[in-house]
Amino acid sequence: MQKKFIFLLCIYSLGGFFALQAVIDPSPNVKKQEDYYKLEDFGKVKKFDVHIHINTSETHFIEQAVEDNFYFLDIVDDRPFGLPMRKQQEFALLHLKNFPRQMVFATTFPVSNWAEKDWVQNTMADLERSFAKGASAVKIWKNIGMDLRDENGAFVMVDHPRIDSVLTYLTRKGVPLLGHNGEPRDCWLPLEEMTFSQGYYSEHPEYHMYLHPEYPSYEDQITARDNMLQKHPELNFMGAHLGSLEWSLDELSKRLDAYPLMRVDLTRMPNLMLHTLKDRQKTRNFFMTYQDRLIYGTDSAINPTDNPGELKQRIHEKWLEEWKFYATDAPLNLKGFGELRGLKLPRKVIDKIYFENASELLGFKTGE
Ligand SMILES: [Zn+2]
Repeated sequence: MQKKFIFLLCIYSLGGFFALQAVIDPSPNVKKQEDYYKLEDFGKVKKFDVHIHINTSETHFIEQAVEDNFYFLDIVDDRPFGLPMRKQQEFALLHLKNFPRQMVFATTFPVSNWAEKDWVQNTMADLERSFAKGASAVKIWKNIGMDLRDENGAFVMVDHPRIDSVLTYLTRKGVPLLGHNGEPRDCWLPLEEMTFSQGYYSEHPEYHMYLHPEYPSYEDQITARDNMLQKHPELNFMGAHLGSLEWSLDELSKRLDAYPLMRVDLTRMPNLMLHTLKDRQKTRNFFMTYQDRLIYGTDSAINPTDNPGELKQRIHEKWLEEWKFYATDAPLNLKGFGELRGLKLPRKVIDKIYFENASELLGFKTGE
């Protein structure tokens, strides 16, 4: 009897020992490989691009997204050029109807009627209609802060009391706000001091704020955005383009620490590559620290095309190249600056920035 008991005890202990071993050390090599994705895993991993502008009824882009295992957010915004926002929204609704599993969309509101005394009520009614049609988020654009003026000719900034009313409404509805507020810091610098934007601003002096000191400064834009977040601590917010703090991971970290519901999209790829080139460890630490707050996106504008093959190839190559930067440590070249190595973020961080954070912000599920 006693012998049998000891025998069983030995069996259990051995079993326990092996089970424990399996938890601690599932063969070090296997574990190591599993912690990181490879370039070839690109197609297998479920991904989300949080910053897409579809300006067409054509579906080539969406077909490529399906092929590359990408879901996406189509963003409607109030731009003074290109396709008007009503038309952008028509396309968004059309695609949502045909590809409801692949996408969500963000609506916006006009400010051309800002002077009307019931602007707030009209705006909320307008947004309510868009939510009823399936909008998942709201976008505000840089025209607030850089273009819109009040009845006295003063610039309307994003922390304006009338905007507050709309944001209180969004907070109550639980709808996230996406903000493109201000511009990259380059916009306020002379051409020779810019990091990446010389080409664009030399061709568009009208948007080059260094030449327009009567407009709000870069600091004015960032301060107004920060004030807005300060006033709406329960609003889910995603700052487009690294929250217009693309030039400094330290400045961006300060905001992410101060505003717990702030996220940013990663659509300033050259800046992220430059941070990595200068200090890879610091950049990697930034991604590890804020892994729940960073959301992958490309800011791709999808226009009608006569060459769908070229469009699909271009999108695929961009997605694959950026996957290489985040998931592997392959050598990459940043034009005009030099060589760097990819960040090779752990699998669980990749899963967050490439899918889970967007899914959580937008309440998006794939149905799997
Ligand atoms: Zn955009």
